[in-house]
Amino acid sequence: MAQVPVADGVFTFPAAEPQLIGSRCGACGIVTFPAQDSCPRCASMSMTEQRLARRGRLWAWTTQEFPPPSPPYAGPTGRDFVPFGVGYVVLPGEVKVETRLTEADPAVLTPGMDMELVLVPFRTDDDGNEVVTFAFRPVKGEAS
Ligand SMILES: [Zn+2]
Repeated sequence: MAQVPVADGVFTFPAAEPQLIGSRCGACGIVTFPAQDSCPRCASMSMTEQRLARRGRLWAWTTQEFPPPSPPYAGPTGRDFVPFGVGYVVLPGEVKVETRLTEADPAVLTPGMDMELVLVPFRTDDDGNEVVTFAFRPVKGEAS
């Protein structure tokens, strides 16, 4: 089964170690995700692409217990829907990213825990391709 990204320009693909694609303002230095053409803080147009850190720290989260409104949501619905974690991960010195989490059980998540970027299956498109999206998962086996 071929894999395709859920959208172009969101993360590097294909990549052994995928990175989110954000942007940095050449005038004030703020980092945004997703990438933007103009700076949300100073309105400068001098935005350049910045590939973001793959590791960050969990800031806040919840569990999505029902399918979000569609569009824009295009994932499984009805009996195929599986609750998933969503939250914010802070990439140090860069930006706070709103993201899907691989872990849906709030009991195993703790504030500030180390998280890393992964790509996860999202749905199967009409051509039989596996559509992948990004998520953050807890980093295991390391003291934080
Ligand atoms: Zn700016």
